[in-house]
Amino acid sequence: MSQSKPETDGDPPKRLRDFLVLTSGGVAVLALLFLTGAIGLVEWITGAVVMTAGALAFYVGSAPASQKIRTAEVLDPPERKISASEDTAIESFIAALPLPALLVSPEGQLSSVNGHARSLFRLEATTASPPAALLRQPDLLAALDRVAADGANERVEFSQHGDAEVWMAHVRPGPETRSVLAVFEDLTAVRRAEKARADFLANASHELRTPLTAIGGFIETMRGPAKDDKEAWDGFLEIMAQQTERMKRLVADLLSLSRIEFSEHRAPSTQIEFVDLARTTSFGLKPIAEEAGIKLHFDAPDHVIHAIADDDEIAQVIQNLASNAIKYARRGGEVQILVGSATTMADAAIACSRQSEEAKRSVLLQPYAASGAPALWVRVTDDGAGISEEHLPRLGERFYRVDESRGGKIEGTGLGLAIVKHIMARHRGGLAVESLEGHGTAFGVWMPRLKTDANT
Ligand code: ADP
Repeated sequence: MSQSKPETDGDPPKRLRDFLVLTSGGVAVLALLFLTGAIGLVEWITGAVVMTAGALAFYVGSAPASQKIRTAEVLDPPERKISASEDTAIESFIAALPLPALLVSPEGQLSSVNGHARSLFRLEATTASPPAALLRQPDLLAALDRVAADGANERVEFSQHGDAEVWMAHVRPGPETRSVLAVFEDLTAVRRAEKARADFLANASHELRTPLTAIGGFIETMRGPAKDDKEAWDGFLEIMAQQTERMKRLVADLLSLSRIEFSEHRAPSTQIEFVDLARTTSFGLKPIAEEAGIKLHFDAPDHVIHAIADDDEIAQVIQNLASNAIKYARRGGEVQILVGSATTMADAAIACSRQSEEAKRSVLLQPYAASGAPALWVRVTDDGAGISEEHLPRLGERFYRVDESRGGKIEGTGLGLAIVKHIMARHRGGLAVESLEGHGTAFGVWMPRLKTDANT
């Protein structure tokens, strides 16, 4: 912000010095003339008085005009008063503002509070009262007082309704002298996004640092105490390879997540045949299932199901849900991947996530598509330990892992379900989980399909 430089021409100390030099110089010259007999006593006194008066006039007269006006203003500021009709216009203006706003009168009373401000501060209909009687925000009240006193603009951030909301008050001088106008801006979403980004970065760096620290530790050991113990090296190298894999998975998941988040607001535009894509993806998971000793079943209708979707992203949804099911299924157990079509989104939601009476469930993503739109669904079920009820609503949050509390035995990044959630959001679909502890878990996704399909 540019600041105006103070003027120096009429600098008071400088002018005083000029005044003294002029007076004393003049008086000295007159004294010399008197002493040499050139002038008499009366002339000397008269000359000295005239000289002093002239210098005084010069001193006062040389003060810059702007400074004189400013001084006059400070001593006697012009009162700004408004008429009754202006008052009504201001009141209507404040009422029409789409943001909370209030006006404090020159007498220090809340004279106008619009509906948004009343609900922000939970105020009954406004009666003229001092702000301190109605607002519980010490910083805001102090800013209102300061602006009324010195007329400078201020901004104050405060939280409201516990810490649930964050607001910025823009406090300005009002239309009358010593009146104050405050307009409020909701910063809750901005602050939340900032916190989510900071948490995400903190989590991501923590997750990356963990395997790196392990690898670093083994390198130190292999260079130091275990330098000659070549037999131990195999074990160390094996763990280092595992940690490297973990880091690779994490980086791949982070990249997927950021790519999907980037494109989330652009709807997919290609037509795909869903059944074939789901079948191919599921078969691709057979080797992992076999390695884990899990039987993998796939079932889908005989007819084709078309949808507008991104095939890579849909494959990733099935992969993430099915690989979780394989990871968390009972040893020697089985995982089912079922695909279906439904007349409406509402029916699809029931088909993929409301199949067990006793199970607890949570909808992790509400679909954006209309509930009457024709839909398709996928349900991935396992017979593992299940997930307890309190964890269900938090699944799909980045880095949220139930296993952390179970001792973190099963490897994972905590990003798989977050990726599924974002992909389904892009496809205007839903995500739900249903689980019964000790019996298993089912994840369901559903989304709109094209109407041209057979039998529904
Ligand atoms: P991760 O890479 O840890 O598997 P996800 O986002 O895919 O990350 O899953 C988050 C958490 O949800 C997992 O850590 C696990 O605790 C839990 N979870 C996901 N799928 C299942 C399942 N089929 N059975 C039991 N728990 C599951």
